[in-house]
Amino acid sequence: EGVSQQTSDEPLLRIDRISKTFGAEQAVEDLSLSVEQGELLTLLGPSGCGKTTTLRLIAGLERPDSGAIRVDGLPVATGDGTFVTPEARDIGVVFQDFALFPHMTAAENIAFGIDDLSDAEQERRVTELLDLVGLDGQGDSRPEELSGGQQQRIALARSLAPEPEILLLDEPFSNLDVDLRVEMREEVRRILKETGVTAVSVTHDQEEALSISDRVAVMHEGRLEQVGRPEAVFQRPKSRFVAGFLGHASFLSGYVRGDKVDTSVASIDREQIHGLASQYDMTEIDVLVRPDDILAYPADEAEADGRVTYRRYLGPSVLYRVELDSGETIECMHNHSESMDLDTPVTVTLTADHELVWFPEGSQSR
Ligand code: ATP
Repeated sequence: EGVSQQTSDEPLLRIDRISKTFGAEQAVEDLSLSVEQGELLTLLGPSGCGKTTTLRLIAGLERPDSGAIRVDGLPVATGDGTFVTPEARDIGVVFQDFALFPHMTAAENIAFGIDDLSDAEQERRVTELLDLVGLDGQGDSRPEELSGGQQQRIALARSLAPEPEILLLDEPFSNLDVDLRVEMREEVRRILKETGVTAVSVTHDQEEALSISDRVAVMHEGRLEQVGRPEAVFQRPKSRFVAGFLGHASFLSGYVRGDKVDTSVASIDREQIHGLASQYDMTEIDVLVRPDDILAYPADEAEADGRVTYRRYLGPSVLYRVELDSGETIECMHNHSESMDLDTPVTVTLTADHELVWFPEGSQSR
């Protein structure tokens, strides 16, 4: 519904080597990215990495210094002067604070961008959208009478009303309570998928990005670090930054020796390590381990591999940091109730039964 037919293999949105500086600040650097028709792509990264600037460049609220942005194969902004205004781009934006008009009813808010349609058409469309966002019969409510989640539904309906080709969502859940956030994530994904709209969302919350997106684009210091399906970026991070930003990451130093990789915790079968080429034989590598790849148990001083240096109680689980006798620090997550105090001597076991990712020693990426 509401999405024009594509004429070629061109992705619906193509960003080609765009850069944007503000004075001395390089907000976006040589960024390339494609978004397919109907896809939900999330820009993820820490504060200041350039995600909002990228979203604003797509919307037409900023102009790129260089590079090009194409929608349906046609340039909407380029470094050499092509610029289609935001109003003329078939792009909707859902703002962080929802930006609903307080003096208008929900229905009037939704109809705001479609006043070129006949009254009957507007009414039909508003009814359809209220139904889509699960607010049947709430058209007469004013924003102040609605909960945060309901306001977000109206904001989404308003942005979808003109049937934009692309919908941009700027930190869409940051104004909601934690409980509501999780519920609304699923709702927003459902609504976007029902309309088939192509969407680009921005967040610094890795769990949110992993749970709602078709693909995640991880940004760092203005650059794109990695883009891929949630499982791919989490399980196969291409840089230490991505590994650490998407979850807890510890690195075990390993020595590659034939079909084994020796670490201070375990000797790992080489085939358990993803894509370790023969040229790395007899060299040091760093093996990525996540907290649920490792277990630590209290041990006699003489048998211990290290000791607990940090403990964080998380309710269903406890996160421990262990400093190994080798000088390395690793984190492990326990979901049993037994509790270990700081300074407890522990033995450490590698329990991972999946492929592990590695990095050449001292490198940031592969
Ligand atoms: P946040 O999550 O904090 O919004 P972000 O990842 O969205 O961060 P941007 O807002 O895109 O990052 O900012 C990237 C960099 O560009 C930052 O260093 C920021 O200070 C700078 N910047 C962004 N907009 C402007 C502007 N209008 N004028 C000057 N500097 C800017």
